[in-house]
Parts: sequence; C-alpha cells; structure tokens
Amino acid sequence: MTISQVITKVKNNNPEADEKMLKKAYDFAAKAHEGQKRKTGEPYIQHSLHTAFVLAQIKADFPTIIAGLLHDVPEDTEYGLEEIKKKFGEEVMMLVEGITKLSKIKYRGIERYRESLRKMFLAMARDLRVILIKFSDRLHNLRTLDALPPEKRKRIAEETMEIYAPIAGLLGIWRLKWQMEDICFKFLYPEEFKKLEYKYEVEKKIERNQYAQKIKNILGQKLKQEGIEYKIEDRFKHLYSIYKKMQRKDRKFDEIYDVFALRLITPTISDCYKALGVIHTLWKPKSNRIKDYIAVPKPNGYRSLHTTVFGPENKATEFQIRTKEMHEESLYGIAAHLHYKQKGGSDYKTLKQPHWIKDILNIQRQAENTNEFISALKLDVFHDRIFVFSPKGDVFDLPEKSTPIDFAYIVHTEIGNKATGALINNKMATLDQPLKNGDLVEIITDKNRKGPNRDWLKFVKTNRAKEKIRHASKASKLEQIKKMIPGM
Ligand code: MN
Repeated sequence: MTISQVITKVKNNNPEADEKMLKKAYDFAAKAHEGQKRKTGEPYIQHSLHTAFVLAQIKADFPTIIAGLLHDVPEDTEYGLEEIKKKFGEEVMMLVEGITKLSKIKYRGIERYRESLRKMFLAMARDLRVILIKFSDRLHNLRTLDALPPEKRKRIAEETMEIYAPIAGLLGIWRLKWQMEDICFKFLYPEEFKKLEYKYEVEKKIERNQYAQKIKNILGQKLKQEGIEYKIEDRFKHLYSIYKKMQRKDRKFDEIYDVFALRLITPTISDCYKALGVIHTLWKPKSNRIKDYIAVPKPNGYRSLHTTVFGPENKATEFQIRTKEMHEESLYGIAAHLHYKQKGGSDYKTLKQPHWIKDILNIQRQAENTNEFISALKLDVFHDRIFVFSPKGDVFDLPEKSTPIDFAYIVHTEIGNKATGALINNKMATLDQPLKNGDLVEIITDKNRKGPNRDWLKFVKTNRAKEKIRHASKASKLEQIKKMIPGM
C-alpha cells in the first residue's frame, strides 16, 4: 500500500481533498514509525496506510483519514499529541487522543469485558469517528492475524466477534461488520468455515451464477421496456451469516442457501416501487415477505424494499430494491451519513446523531456503575445473542434462551456428554434453565455418566448441542445392539 493509493481513494469520494495534508501526515507518521516493524515483517507504516485506506473506503471524513494515518503515533513513538496538535490542528489531535485512550482497553474476563463495552460506547458517544478509526485499525490487524501466535489470534478474534462486529452492525456499517466476522469465523471455527466455504464457493458457485444470469436477463429486459434505469448485483452473502442462520434456525446449508438473493439499485425512490411492480408481474411474491423499509425505515435508519418471489424453476428469490444513496448508507452506515453531510458542506458537528447515542449518554449519567450501565443498555446491540461466562472468565456467545446444556457443549463435547447439573451465578439450576446475558455458568459433570439424555433435545437451542446429543445417543444404541448380538 502506498500513500498515492490512499490519496486516489480519498479523491474518489472527495475530489477537493487536501492532497498536501495527506502527504504531510504520511511523512510525519513514516518518520515517527521509522525502523519499526509489524509482526508480519512489514514496515509499521503499512498498518497506518491500510487503516487510512479502509477509512477512505467507508467514506470517513477528511480529518478522520488524517487521524487514521497518525493513530499509533503517540502510543508507539516518541512524538506526542502536542506535536500532532501543532502540525494537524485540534480536531485531528482529539481523534488521535480518542483512539489512544481506547487502545488501553484490554479484554480479560467479565469485568474487563463490560468495561471495554462501556468505554467503546462512551468513546462513540463523544465522537463517533473514533470508532471508525478503531474499526479500520482492527480490520487490518485481523487481516494480518496469521503473524500472531494462536492464543493471541483467538483472543483478538473473540473480542472482535463480541464487541466490534455487533457495534459495527449497530452503526449500520455492514460492510465492516461482515468483513470482520468472516475473518474471525475462519479463526474461531476453522472446520465449519472450510466446509461452508467449499459449499458456497465451489459446489454451488456454477449453479448460482447460472441462475443469477437467467434472472438478470429476464428482469433486465423487462426493466428496459419500462424505462427504468437499474443495476443488478449478486448479493454477497457472507459465510458467517449463513453459519449463524443455520444455527439459529437449525437448518441445513441447502435450506438456507435455497433463498437466492439479488439486489437492484435504481436512481429514484419511485423507480424502486416501479421495479418492485415489475418483479411482481414477472414472478409470484410470497405475500408475507414484502417489506417496505422505505416508507417505514428500520430503527437504525435502514431503507430498502424487500420481496421474496418464486422465480424461475420456482426457486425462492429475494430482492432488495433501493437507491444508490440508500445502498451506500446500508454499507457504510453512519459513515455514509457523514459523507453526505460533508458533500453538503456542513460539518461533522451538525450531524444528527442516532437517537440511541443520546440514550447511551443519558443512561451513563444515571447509572451508578458499569454493571448497571450495561444492563440498562439492554444490549440492544446484541439482538438475539447472549454472552455468558465460564468460571475462568471466558466469554461464550450463544443464541437467546440457550440452556446450560448448550453452554456445556460449546465448552467441550465431553462436558456436555457428562453433564449432570449446573450452577448459574453460583446457584443450583436445572439443565434446561434459559440463560441470561452475563450469567456465570458452571457445569457439574459425572465422569461415570454414560452419555447425554435424548430428552435434552427438547430444550437445547444450538445446533451443536443437537448434533452432539444425537451423535452420542446413536453411538450408544449401537453399543447396546452390539451387546445383544454377540459377534457383531
Ligand atoms: Mn493500530
């Protein structure tokens, strides 16, 4: 990565961007980091350049990109914030200061985890742009994760899944969320990742491409007839979301995969509705799957029309229809809002913050301590996931209403197979008791226990637990049969 590549990217979105200033920030950072190497062996400045590049990709504003180039200077070099203020002004200095404070967050056990979340939210409430830098920094760290020892890889991947990715989602920066999740997925569940990747990228690819082509031809022709300008994109389905869906709905890959997804971008809102009409005249819609998020946007501001139709070959096919502006907002979330504001000439301070940022500040003012702060937040961010803790302080991410048995199988198959009881927050609990966010869970095992109880299938929520229970009971049935039939 070179500074010219960063400059080109910045100018793409913002032709009047001050090229000299970017050069100046680069020269300063390069000098400050001179002689330092990343774990990959690359010069340190590569990390600064990549961070700035991602910021340009998500259309962060100019001071944020400058701060991205400088973000590790105070932490790792002899140059301090004063120097940055002198050279690049107060605003850039504040952003770099914000990121330096955030980097002090370390991730260890329950309290630290909660404390990290609290710090992230507060930094965000003060200046959202700090979080954008943190995300970009993290994305490059993830991309070079191979260079770290396995233990560290795992810790960083977990922290990203638990803290960074959900917050990126909350801010609507889906593109970053997906990129982070897929990298972490690969490190945390290498086998599942490989399996899915193979299915998606190899087995189904040709079939998928042929089908996409068919739809594009039929639809394209009709849209042209109607005089609607359009762009059709295959929807990039990221692997981790497929994996999560399979777990949540307890479905096989083919069932999830079966919904084929396309995106249609049109110039105006009225074109969106016209295009929806065209699609519905071509193929029969599933009536309960038509969603108008343009008339009624989602709480995070997401806008789009959704419909699922029975396409050619009667295949369920989902369309998202939206304007270019809506599309960019959906990829870059809050960053895109900033970008449009910037284009309109007003500055960051006039940006209307999402209402929940204000809510967070209010909650912060009222909460007595971190625990209260976090529970007051209701972890809106984490929708249908809960986080529970092992006695060692490890954090586990489970679907809502998971039980101690789900937890046991996530920790280790044998712990699941030998489970006889559970302590939740140090109190005895039944094995089917639904867990809540922040619960401390300890599984009591009996090493003489033969195996899982098939009745557990009635209450477990995770696919993993279901599979393990079925697998273990099949194995034990076979054992019994073998005993009954000597010589088998
Ligand atoms: Mn960094």
